[in-house]
Amino acid sequence: MAEFSLDLTDGQRELRDWVHGFAAGAVRPAGAEWDAREETPWPLIQEAAKIGLYGFEFLATCWADPSGLSLPIASEELFWGDAGIAMSILGTGLAVAAIYGSGTPEQLLEWVPLCFGDVDEPTVAAFCSTEPGAGSDVAAISTRARYDEARDEWVLSGQKAFATNGGIAAVHVVTASVDPALGARGQAAFVVPPGTPGLVAGPKLRKLGLRASHTADVFLDEVRVPGRCLLGGREALQERLARARAALAQAGSGLAQAGSGAGATGGQAALRTFELTRPTVGAQALGIARAAYEYALAYAKERVQFGKPIVEHQAVAFALADMCTEIDAARLLVWRAAWMGRNNRTFAAGEGSMSKLKAGEVAVAVTEKAVQLLGGAGYVRDHPVERWYRDAKIYTIFEGTSEIQRLVVARAISGARLR
Ligand SMILES: Cc1cc2nc3c(=O)[nH]c(=O)nc-3n(C[C@H](O)[C@H](O)[C@H](O)COP(=O)(O)OP(=O)(O)OC[C@H]3O[C@@H](n4cnc5c(N)ncnc54)[C@H](O)[C@@H]3O)c2cc1C
Repeated sequence: MAEFSLDLTDGQRELRDWVHGFAAGAVRPAGAEWDAREETPWPLIQEAAKIGLYGFEFLATCWADPSGLSLPIASEELFWGDAGIAMSILGTGLAVAAIYGSGTPEQLLEWVPLCFGDVDEPTVAAFCSTEPGAGSDVAAISTRARYDEARDEWVLSGQKAFATNGGIAAVHVVTASVDPALGARGQAAFVVPPGTPGLVAGPKLRKLGLRASHTADVFLDEVRVPGRCLLGGREALQERLARARAALAQAGSGLAQAGSGAGATGGQAALRTFELTRPTVGAQALGIARAAYEYALAYAKERVQFGKPIVEHQAVAFALADMCTEIDAARLLVWRAAWMGRNNRTFAAGEGSMSKLKAGEVAVAVTEKAVQLLGGAGYVRDHPVERWYRDAKIYTIFEGTSEIQRLVVARAISGARLR
């Protein structure tokens, strides 16, 4: 167990400075171009792979940090550079976290290298949980997984929505219902290996922000994957299903007990991944917020109106003070949750969700304020704040909307069965 300290270690400082160097030198200068192109920035993914920022070793080194702070620190820096490009680089981590969290060591060894490819030919991975009828309510997924005993294959059918890297990924991790009668507890996660027939990509969605990052639906039509693609293995699944069936029989009354309902009670496989990743997602939002705050501060020192730099107008200075305070407050929540997660603390008050809630809302508020402080200049593409404003909004929506984060926290602190 690591003592919680706000003094970064030498290693953490080196990591921060190294990622910041890449973000400042390669990512920030390319942000506007890839936002306008709305294409996956493969050359930058390759650059990241070359320096060791894209690959399992990087993630594993971060995860190994006993304080849990390395991944939030690295994420904040990379997203400070540009969120769309950073998501293209770190988006693969969501699928990898699912394999890491639910898979066996053999599955980790087999599938994770395929998620990243190699320096000459990097690949990306996708984690597909959301469906057209199941967003916040992850327990409602209707993608089905049927086991074909004779061929030791799982057969997946359904539609996944809004998947980051969906359809362009080498490896797709797909959640599916094995036993719909068990609601969320009847779900499992499957690896769909590269080139598997039946997996069809929907068109790339055109988005408000994060435009460099690929988002698309994925269609699964009788997709056959080998038995070993079930994350965690069949034995573990059968034990889990047996426990869920016993609990259901005992409860007698059924589905509500088995976990149907809004996000926080939803699919175990998906939720486990979300719990592992929520503070890191908050850190991404922080990176955007900090970029906007720094830019607005510098602008306010330069821009002269009424005979003095606008930062000398108290209303402007106070706005900047609030932005800085809110960013620091959010970072403390993110770091606390990351430390708690790494040190197996119970999230008794939903601290992981709290951190993502706060950081997401701070990113939206701070980027909006940055646009305001730049005036007309904030509204045009000559300055990056309009892009950061568009990018920030996703942080109150994905990985659980702000309402769902509040639901998790509210349930945790009240014990009430809120939906
Ligand atoms: C750019 C982008 C990338 C994404 N990447 C991925 C990915 O890689 N993998 C993946 O699986 N998904 C991904 N998603 C999906 C994302 O996680 C969902 O969009 C999100 O969870 C919300 O689901 P929804 O869009 O269906 O909204 P809905 O669930 O339909 O919500 C609509 C509104 O209702 C509110 N609401 C719903 N239920 C409640 C409730 N119980 N109480 C109060 N309010 C409620 C919500 O907060 C929201 O305001 C991505 C989405 C986007 C836009």
